[in-house]
Amino acid sequence: MRIGTMFAIVTGTRPEIIKMFPIMKQMNEHDMDFKYIYTGQHFDDSLSSQFFDEFSLPSPDYKIDLFDSKISPTLQIPEMMIKLDNVFRKERFDGVIVQGDTNSVLAASLVSTQYNIPLYHVESGLRCFDYNMQEERNRLLVDHMSDVLFASTAISKKNLEDENVNGKIYTVGNTVMDAINIVLHNGTNALKDEKSCDKSKTEDYIVVTLHRKENLSNKEFLFNFFSGLHETKMKYVFPIHPHTLKQMKKFNLDYFLTNRIKIIPPLGYFKFLNLLKKSRFVITDSGGIQEEITSELINKCAIVVRPNTERPESIESGHCRLLSDFNKNRLVNEIYKLNNDLEHGIELSKSPYGVGDSAQRIVNVLMDHYQPVSKILN
Ligand code: UDP
Repeated sequence: MRIGTMFAIVTGTRPEIIKMFPIMKQMNEHDMDFKYIYTGQHFDDSLSSQFFDEFSLPSPDYKIDLFDSKISPTLQIPEMMIKLDNVFRKERFDGVIVQGDTNSVLAASLVSTQYNIPLYHVESGLRCFDYNMQEERNRLLVDHMSDVLFASTAISKKNLEDENVNGKIYTVGNTVMDAINIVLHNGTNALKDEKSCDKSKTEDYIVVTLHRKENLSNKEFLFNFFSGLHETKMKYVFPIHPHTLKQMKKFNLDYFLTNRIKIIPPLGYFKFLNLLKKSRFVITDSGGIQEEITSELINKCAIVVRPNTERPESIESGHCRLLSDFNKNRLVNEIYKLNNDLEHGIELSKSPYGVGDSAQRIVNVLMDHYQPVSKILN
């Protein structure tokens, strides 16, 4: 039988690793015990192990190989649950910490509630109010299962209060701000061979990222999106998600990926933040990027190509413009408009996601629930 508290930290995708690593770093600095479990939802190295190396994270204590769900995606949640259950049965955790809204988060949350283990949800309370979106359903379910909810902003906290969630809510900012500060101030392993990135100067390209299922499964959207970019005759740099490339090839649209839209492989975090920093602006459907561009170390604007967003704070701060009613002409007009507005200067408020002390604030809460082995033995 173990004495002392043992937390489990579960992640499964690129954004979860990025947003959870500041918490793991803080926990290590406080000598707190935890086991790190990677569910394998993002199995491509460019979206997973690249970041373990970059952040000097130890290899996960448990790295799950999702074999069956690579063949049939509907098996992803049950397969993760079965494999997580094996780990949970062996380890008997005292708390499970999850971040975000992926299938990994849902699977880990369902298993931890079965064992009655306290569940801590980081970045809770995001709502886009589109119940057809898988991530929105995951958020709702996980928030209502959680014992401790770490909301990033007052808006997220209010969403949780409006729904009368059971758990205790703490507003702590977003750990992505910590991740940016750590990586840009202290550098990472990637810095060693990338010194030139420091001398950041705005260049004449626009960063594009696109990976949401709703966009990638829609051939007409993809055709209009990329014809729109070509029509503007501007320069785009597109770190392409492996799934996006697969869909472009499947729909025979990869002919759009020319010099004007320069594709590059998914970048490590330091390189990607520098790509953002030097860009003119961003076109994206990513959640995390809507937050990151509000950091004073990045401070860029973005056109968000989604019908809605769960991050209204980034619109209020002036950093994001939501292109909810997408068609090609609207995209082209929005690109010209943002480009023009930038010429004249856009007033941007400070980041609504905090100053980079979220991991410390989260760990302060975890400490209240933590018994180190030494304390018990004394
Ligand atoms: N990102 C990265 N390299 C890239 C593209 C994105 O490190 O080439 C980071 C980005 O800074 C953000 C996260 O990946 O922190 C976003 O991941 P994604 O868009 O896959 O997920 P979402 O944020 O939409 O959940």
